[in-house]
Parts: sequence; C-alpha cells; structure tokens
Amino acid sequence: MTQACSRCGTFFKSERDVMFNDAGDVVCERCFDVGEIDAAGARTASWVKSTAYFSPLFAMGALIIWRLFSIPGLLLVVASVMSSAGVLATMFKNDGLRTRLGAHVLPASVFLLAAIGICVVGGLLLMLGGF
Ligand SMILES: [Zn+2]
Repeated sequence: MTQACSRCGTFFKSERDVMFNDAGDVVCERCFDVGEIDAAGARTASWVKSTAYFSPLFAMGALIIWRLFSIPGLLLVVASVMSSAGVLATMFKNDGLRTRLGAHVLPASVFLLAAIGICVVGGLLLMLGGF
C-alpha cells in the first residue's frame, strides 16, 4: 500500500485500513472516528440552537393548549420546562458544545430561561384562574 490518509498522512498498512469519510475523502480509522465525533458535535449544536430559539414559542403554545384543553396542555408545559432545563444543563456541562455555539450561548440561554419563566408564570396564572 502506498496510499496515505488525506487528513494525517499516515500510510495505510493494508486495504482494510482505508476508510471514507462523509466528504468521500480517503482517511485512516483514527481520522474517521474524529470526523464522526465532529459531525455528532455539529448535530448537537444545531439541535441546541433550534430547541433554544423555539422554546419560548413552544412554551406559549403549551400554555394556550393548557388553557383550552387543560391536561394535555399541562403535560406540554411540564415537557417544555424539562426540555429547556435539559438543554441548558447540556450546554453548561459540555465545554466543546459551548465553544461550537460561540456567540449563540448567551441568547440561547436567555431564550431557554425565558421559556421556563413563561411556563412558570403562565402556569401560576392559569392555576389561579387569572387568564
Ligand atoms: Zn488519518
């Protein structure tokens, strides 16, 4: 084998070591694994972004459903609080994820906290029969 990994330049010892990444480049097993972790990190980051930015909308929708249909809406409100808190926890436990999110960390956190606030305040108002 005279072929080498396109990432790190290691020469392949045998045909079995040759792998192809998402871009179709020839890579060794080690670089392939790194690429997989990278892709998983990118997916997590975009999941966090979309969940965070939609969480206040989801919270308000859940409250409206609670107002109209009670129990299913209540469950959605609880789910909304849990998912917002879960995304926040994921973001703060994972340094790599925060690095990847960069400038999105602050607005995403604010949106998630806002969603939790909307659920708590809206939920209290609903339970007290305020709206
Ligand atoms: Zn390599």
